[in-house]
Amino acid sequence: MTEELHCAGCGAPIQNEDKNKAGYVPTSALVDRATVICQRCFRLKHYNEVQDVDMEDQDFRNKLHELGNKQALIVKIVDVFDFEGSWIPGFQRYIGNNPVLLMVNKTDLLPHSVNENRLLHWIRRQAKEQGLKPKDVVLLSAKNKQGIREAASRLEELRKGRDVYVTGCTNVGKSTFINALIAEFGENEEQDITTSHFPGTTLDMIEIPLDDQTSLYDTPGLINDKQFGRKRSLQERKEFIPEKELKPKVYQLESGQTIFIGGYVRMDFVEGDSNSFVVFMSNRLPVHRTKQENADRLHPDRVGDVLKPPYRVEEAPELTKHRIEIKEEKTDIVVQGLGWITVTKPHASVDIYVPVGTGVSKREAVI
Ligand code: GDP
Repeated sequence: MTEELHCAGCGAPIQNEDKNKAGYVPTSALVDRATVICQRCFRLKHYNEVQDVDMEDQDFRNKLHELGNKQALIVKIVDVFDFEGSWIPGFQRYIGNNPVLLMVNKTDLLPHSVNENRLLHWIRRQAKEQGLKPKDVVLLSAKNKQGIREAASRLEELRKGRDVYVTGCTNVGKSTFINALIAEFGENEEQDITTSHFPGTTLDMIEIPLDDQTSLYDTPGLINDKQFGRKRSLQERKEFIPEKELKPKVYQLESGQTIFIGGYVRMDFVEGDSNSFVVFMSNRLPVHRTKQENADRLHPDRVGDVLKPPYRVEEAPELTKHRIEIKEEKTDIVVQGLGWITVTKPHASVDIYVPVGTGVSKREAVI
């Protein structure tokens, strides 16, 4: 690949190795080298549709720093199903004094019974603990186009005539949100949004004009490498990435009992009084209850059989153990990319086994 080629749309260096990264062009489209544009800009130009590109940690942080030098409203999108994983620690430090509008997406996955005000308070407390003081929080389901109008009106109020930069990790639904915005306002004559490119820069950003002077910029997404599943097969991903409202599964357990969630997660209730464990993971993942003493014999040998998905023992992920001490009532044990388990009563010791490299944490229960 010739290094000096740049996309005529966004300025990203052209490459044909990774279609999720900036500047990707399929080899077949590299015929006319004089006017080459990347696949992302091609989609924008011809279908008026944005597509997210991934970025490694350091490059992403450098880009975030650039935002600190601008006068802009920063939209930060996080995924309610992978709140911790999609958070981007130290965010405020990167973006300087610019105001932040926090958008929490995929709320359609939460049970309908969730109280919105309680959820908003929970989000604000989590944000505060992470050192972020958003000007406002908007709940979204970009996929179902819920909250788009409210998001647009908060964005308009808070930007006070400034540019807007939309940031987030890959997979939080950034493209779905921006495309929903374009669909909602693109054909409105008073508020005409027509997408365009950002020529001659190396920001790898896409520009969507908001008015004559200012624009909304779509920035590349940070890869969250502690999120389980990026390398699993498409067939498996369909099983563990939830598409519908989560149906919580409740297990009343005694110490010495274990539950497996598919072949991905093992949770041993090591010590504590009888307790209630509520699993918030994809409805398609079966939960298998057993005695702790039998658990070692089940994983990996019975993966694809008693424990599935995955469907074959060779596909069983290697699991690693984390000891979690539950001190408070209603504590969530989060497995990034798979969901969480709420432990109802305080004072419990739990060993959670998750695929190597997957992030695990505990938090005040979201529900
Ligand atoms: P991006 O990488 O941040 O641009 O994310 P995408 O917009 O490509 O979305 C990533 C995945 O999340 C896709 O499978 C979307 O269908 C899904 N997704 C996006 N928004 C929502 C939402 O509001 N609810 C649910 N359940 N899924 C969503």
